[in-house]
Amino acid sequence: MKKIVCIGAGASGIIAALHLVEQDFNAQIILLGEAPGPAYSTPEPYHILNVTARNMSAFASDPLHFHRFAEGCLGHPDLSHEAFVARKVFREYLEMLLEELQQRGVQYIKDQAIALSCTHPGYRIETTVSGSIEADGVVLAMGNFPAASLPGGETLAPEQYIAVPWNKNIAEGLDPAAEVLFVGTGLTMIDGATTLAHYGHKGSVMALSRRGLLPLARTIVDPLPMSMEELSADSVTRLMHKLRQMAQDQMQRGEPWDRVIDGIRPFLQPLWTGFNRVEQKRFLRHASVYWDIHRHRIPQESADVLASLLASAQLHVMAARLIELNQKGSRVEVSLRRRGQNAIERISVDCVINCTGPVADYHRVDSPLLRSLFASGLARPHPLKLGFDATPEGKLYNADGIAQDTLRTLGPPLKGVLWESIAVPEIRAEAATLAKALEATFREQPELSVKKGEGES
Ligand SMILES: Cc1cc2nc3c(=O)[nH]c(=O)nc-3n(C[C@H](O)[C@H](O)[C@H](O)COP(=O)(O)OP(=O)(O)OC[C@H]3O[C@@H](n4cnc5c(N)ncnc54)[C@H](O)[C@@H]3O)c2cc1C
Repeated sequence: MKKIVCIGAGASGIIAALHLVEQDFNAQIILLGEAPGPAYSTPEPYHILNVTARNMSAFASDPLHFHRFAEGCLGHPDLSHEAFVARKVFREYLEMLLEELQQRGVQYIKDQAIALSCTHPGYRIETTVSGSIEADGVVLAMGNFPAASLPGGETLAPEQYIAVPWNKNIAEGLDPAAEVLFVGTGLTMIDGATTLAHYGHKGSVMALSRRGLLPLARTIVDPLPMSMEELSADSVTRLMHKLRQMAQDQMQRGEPWDRVIDGIRPFLQPLWTGFNRVEQKRFLRHASVYWDIHRHRIPQESADVLASLLASAQLHVMAARLIELNQKGSRVEVSLRRRGQNAIERISVDCVINCTGPVADYHRVDSPLLRSLFASGLARPHPLKLGFDATPEGKLYNADGIAQDTLRTLGPPLKGVLWESIAVPEIRAEAATLAKALEATFREQPELSVKKGEGES
């Protein structure tokens, strides 16, 4: 019997294990990690999914699987398919799936992998408390790594600096009159702002990011039908031009531009892989921040809270770059440079919250497992500093550029390879592909080997 270990028990690990079990081949599946990961750990009911219920199923073949669960869980038999439900409901869904996996023979080990080595043809995984585990195949489902520390952040007192707001109620222990600075103006900041609003925070709140752009509100629409032929463009600039044109056409017809963003979603992976590295870099440098606020939109409920904080001038958003944080007695002195200016400005706040989002540059992540993978040459970081270097099917390239059939990844670590790879609709598709491929590998190649080539980059 083959043994496959999924490292990481968040949404990607659980969904990968489900799809492996569905393959029904003679393999023991082990899920190693701490379920269900940070994205859905918030207990706050006003922290809501940014994907509608009908798109959060673990199975593309049963798109309403999560929706049915949410209806039962919320006691709401007529829940709209388009509802944005609390993230904690999705956590309960993942916990239910994990229980089901265990009933179907999957072993769940609550532990951390700290090293991985190749034992030809298999692998050995070292863990923090459970010793070593031998495996024939490994799936790296390590998800999102918390934000990199801010300059000077670690020198501040715990009540002055929240480095990882995902697992914490930021309002707890915070003086309601405190002046707060969010560094980052994306989805993590939106969580922080809605938390402060919910707890009736009275102090002024600032948020800064290089361009000071905020995620836009989501309108529920039918995606605009499109085809790959229609979208094909030889440069990022031309593609962006086409999208702007399509959005303008929609608005002229009285339709929301959201239709274009929702319509293009199924084509994002082939569009990204179709661009060469120069074009991908161009997109990251010039277009990604604008893309992100259109693509990662927020539910209207969150947008309303944000609008009211802005209208009352309690929340002030700046386009600026953080230079440094320094402790000045009970206050934090923040040195920043506003966009387009040379002078360094200093402001003073009571608390700084790091909302810069997950780190995808693996050189900046403090993970013993990543260090071990790169030191042994079993994996290499993606050249764009976005996760692992891998094939679009998730086979990891080793240091020599060899794609490994039995060492795979999915979800956020594939951001550099696929760009659109962090949310559930993509993760479940990647999990299905990965499970089928692993089954085929073990069926056809009882003696495991690594394959040379396959689109080395
Ligand atoms: C705050 C937040 C909200 C989000 N909201 C949505 C949403 O509404 N809809 C949506 O589709 N997507 C959302 N996402 C995107 C998110 O990336 C995916 O939905 C999904 O949670 C990714 O799952 P994951 O398992 O890959 O990552 P994670 O949830 O990050 O889980 C990975 C797990 O692997 C563990 N791990 C890492 N290294 C090791 C190791 N060495 N040994 C053992 N375990 C390890 C981590 O500790 C973690 O528990 C959100 C993300 C965040 C951060």
